[in-house]
Amino acid sequence: CGIIGIIGTKPVVPLLLDGLKRLEYRGYDSAGIATLVDGGLERRRAQGKLVNLQNRVEEEPITGMTGIGHTRWATHGRPNEINAHPHASDKVSLVHNGIIENFQELRAELDAKGQAFQTETDTEVVVHLITNYLNDGLSPEEAVHTTLKRLEGAFALAIVFAGREDLMIGARRGSPLAVGYGDGEMYLGSDALSLSHLTDQICYLEEGDWVVLDNNGATIRDLAGNLLNREVIQTAVSG
Ligand code: GLU
Repeated sequence: CGIIGIIGTKPVVPLLLDGLKRLEYRGYDSAGIATLVDGGLERRRAQGKLVNLQNRVEEEPITGMTGIGHTRWATHGRPNEINAHPHASDKVSLVHNGIIENFQELRAELDAKGQAFQTETDTEVVVHLITNYLNDGLSPEEAVHTTLKRLEGAFALAIVFAGREDLMIGARRGSPLAVGYGDGEMYLGSDALSLSHLTDQICYLEEGDWVVLDNNGATIRDLAGNLLNREVIQTAVSG
């Protein structure tokens, strides 16, 4: 299973699919992508091999220069199209590797507020928590930071926001995540290989880090909100 995210300057769909191809070796049961288009979010997902997702995208193409992609190894909820990532509300879309251990508790809280759930996954609580904090007036950065403090378990996350092609937020706790540096573009990926068609300039996030990306760079913080300096290295993985 794996994650890729691109804040780009070129059509992003082929680049996302290429990244997912490079993550296939990790194993997966379904795959999906989401892009930012005209102030909204577009998604395509499919059960099974990447070729099924490629066919979905050919049947019903999507555009956009910023987007996220996921290969899923189901832990909570059957491996079908509905449970495939990215998960989304009208404001946010995200991909997740790992397990949100306290999702039942969080889901009960959101259920009590009348939140309708669309999937059987543990991941969907993260979408609704962030969306609720955005609706309360928090900025995307504040909404994600507040949400991260409420999550227990293991995760790598890549999150995009409707209308914000210049913004992506990532977080790492228990599942690997790397930041890639491009020329006016920035990337997130599960490993250097998933980004090797885009860049060889990589920064591996450490346990508990979360990162705010725009076209020109990354700001990395710990859970308390303190700024961190993480080294950018040139990887040997290329092509
Ligand atoms: N726990 C999540 C799910 O079942 C993520 C699985 C994964 O790591 O791919 O959807």
